[in-house]
Amino acid sequence: MTDSHNEVWTLAEQYDGKLKGVSFELLARGRSLADKLGTKLVSVLIGDGVADSDLDTLIKHGADAVYAVQSPELKYFVCETYGQVLRSLIKEYQPTILLGAATSTGRTLLPYTAVKIPTGLTADCTELDIEEGTGNLLQTRPAIGGNIMATIKTPDHRPQMATVRPKSSRPLPADASRKGEIKHISFDKALIDKRTQIRGYRKEESETLGLDEADIIVAGGHGLKKGENFSLIHSLAKQLGGAVGASRDAVDRGWASYPHQIGLSGKTVSPKVYVGIGISGAIQHLAGIKTSETIVSINSDPDATLHKLADLAIVGDAFQVIPEIQKRLTERGVKNNG
Ligand SMILES: Cc1cc2nc3c(=O)[nH]c(=O)nc-3n(C[C@H](O)[C@H](O)[C@H](O)COP(=O)(O)OP(=O)(O)OC[C@H]3O[C@@H](n4cnc5c(N)ncnc54)[C@H](O)[C@@H]3O)c2cc1C
Repeated sequence: MTDSHNEVWTLAEQYDGKLKGVSFELLARGRSLADKLGTKLVSVLIGDGVADSDLDTLIKHGADAVYAVQSPELKYFVCETYGQVLRSLIKEYQPTILLGAATSTGRTLLPYTAVKIPTGLTADCTELDIEEGTGNLLQTRPAIGGNIMATIKTPDHRPQMATVRPKSSRPLPADASRKGEIKHISFDKALIDKRTQIRGYRKEESETLGLDEADIIVAGGHGLKKGENFSLIHSLAKQLGGAVGASRDAVDRGWASYPHQIGLSGKTVSPKVYVGIGISGAIQHLAGIKTSETIVSINSDPDATLHKLADLAIVGDAFQVIPEIQKRLTERGVKNNG
């Protein structure tokens, strides 16, 4: 396709006037695509009350420009209204690529918009790249139950749209010297979808038990042998002020509930410290932990795959190692309330 469309866009998200972290993760993805295409990277924000100083942080983290449509009517996400706004922006500026997060907002807004335009959308991409020669977006994601990786293209339509899982990439470090344009685009109230009205807003009681935000995650697997032993994982997580994670095997056995599952068919996590105990390190589990800053593996098998990836590999029996760690933490003044 000859391309009169050229900007690469990433969709920023906000709640209560504060930018969400995923906005910065997407910029890291978008930056490398825009650089390969030699084009401009724009962060697009639809919402309300985000200050210019905050919008400028999007530029410091990789955007060349920010397009912001803000209005009290856009404070809360309403798919139809946001979709109309996004469509009108796309019509005017004709981006070649639009990336959103695979959050509840991105997973609703992007399909809605893609159908209306119409164009293609690849959900939950793990890798994004630019095809040499054509400049098409290569959108890679697990397919057939996670057993193969499929690379999908949208050669005939623009923009090429994709969602990316939160925590699957790290934001670029802030560069204070970066300068860019913040363009405030006025909101046309005719775009409000009158069929949908917000009657109230209640913050979700998260089922995730802090896995998404936790700095420390202690995850247990099949090596714990039985459900009762998972209390060791809870106890260590509590002492470390962290959250409890689990392999799919542990979840399938009913030792932990699904919101604790980490991996390809569970959550992608990005804590400062991930501790995997009695987890072998199957590729589907690793897919969920690879952006963790430090990986600790506790496993009795010296050849366990997770040991190979770990920054710290402890070869030992979980039933001896966990109490020993807890004892040493207590000796150093870290209370054990488990
Ligand atoms: C389509 C698909 C999607 C999947 N999605 C996910 C996913 O999202 N998340 C996920 O985790 N898996 C997923 N899986 C499953 C994955 O392939 C593995 O089966 C699973 O991760 C294994 O869990 P585990 O490491 O707990 O168990 P195992 O592989 O059985 O490993 C147990 C480990 O415990 C160690 N061990 C045993 N006794 C002790 C002891 N006393 N002390 C210390 N270590 C001990 C063993 O040496 C072993 O390494 C998926 C699979 C498929 C096909």
